[in-house]
Amino acid sequence: MNITIASLKRNVPLKNLVTFKLGGPAEYFYEANSTDSLIAAIALARHEGMPWFLLGGGSNLVVSDTGIEGLVVHNKTTELKHVDHESRQISLSSGLDLEFLVELAHHLGMSGVECFTGIPGSLGGAIYGNAGAYGRSIADILIDAQVLFPDGSIQTVLNSFFQFDYRTSRIKNEPYIVLSARFQLEAGNCDEIKAKMDDISEQRHSKHPPYEVGCAGSFFKNLPPLPGEDRRRAAGSVLEQAGAKTMSYGGARVFDKHANFIINEGKATANDVRRLADMLKKKVLKDFGIELSEEVLYVGRI
Ligand SMILES: Cc1cc2nc3c(=O)[nH]c(=O)nc-3n(C[C@H](O)[C@H](O)[C@H](O)COP(=O)(O)OP(=O)(O)OC[C@H]3O[C@@H](n4cnc5c(N)ncnc54)[C@H](O)[C@@H]3O)c2cc1C
Repeated sequence: MNITIASLKRNVPLKNLVTFKLGGPAEYFYEANSTDSLIAAIALARHEGMPWFLLGGGSNLVVSDTGIEGLVVHNKTTELKHVDHESRQISLSSGLDLEFLVELAHHLGMSGVECFTGIPGSLGGAIYGNAGAYGRSIADILIDAQVLFPDGSIQTVLNSFFQFDYRTSRIKNEPYIVLSARFQLEAGNCDEIKAKMDDISEQRHSKHPPYEVGCAGSFFKNLPPLPGEDRRRAAGSVLEQAGAKTMSYGGARVFDKHANFIINEGKATANDVRRLADMLKKKVLKDFGIELSEEVLYVGRI
């Protein structure tokens, strides 16, 4: 497949493609509806020496107000959907939503992913950041993945390749692209799976902003466990004690039901969000001597 610069869209607004609903345009934009076209778009950028960025569901990003330089490739690949019923393994294209895997597993009576109910974004994005909730993460179910290497080769790599850790993986630092992935599920009961999904949905609705409110989920990473404990400390509770829920900057403010959520009140800019995040970090450092680090990613021109 051949893609030329002339066939790329230019100056495409990104704010409707990211859950924070803010940020500037992509200088060049390409929507990849197949794995071949995704590979070709990245090859074009590499050949032209153009910076590129792979956009998944846009649910973990603060896109700069001045946009993203170079080529933004939107991963909308969905062609691979394979279930091996005997081994309870599911292989999917990386552009499919994590929620698609959750729904499919429920439909098939396979358990192990219902804890991910309500996490937005693509499977590729979920692998990149080792997304998870309720004590489980993508690292717990990923068997292997097809990855596009920086030299243009495509290789199947095992789970260990990703060096998963809390909300991170090796591909945060190295430009590998996940094309598809295979997951291990367990035997389950449809009704029990559905009950767990409903319970998690309810919990999320009670403490997260409604879908139409711009945000990118938890803004900061939870904190390492205290000595002798094994659970991470919620960044939200430290933020709440620091008075975060009363804080805002421009059109960005801290959500009143969850101090680790920054929300876009409608007209927030990326700069508003950054300034508020910096204020929160300074306050927590001053009050508790704790350095918060962002779970969301700032992307684009500074
Ligand atoms: C309301 C809300 C609730 C949330 N709750 C949770 C939660 O409970 N747990 C949790 O972990 N997260 C949560 N998040 C954050 C977010 O959903 C996850 O981080 C998600 O996995 C991001 O996936 P994405 O496709 O949207 O990635 P994007 O935001 O599009 O991109 C994030 C990064 O992943 C990279 N990337 C995307 N696809 C690929 C690929 N195929 N190959 C290589 N790199 C790729 C991008 O280049 C970018 O650097 C929440 C977000 C929101 C808005």
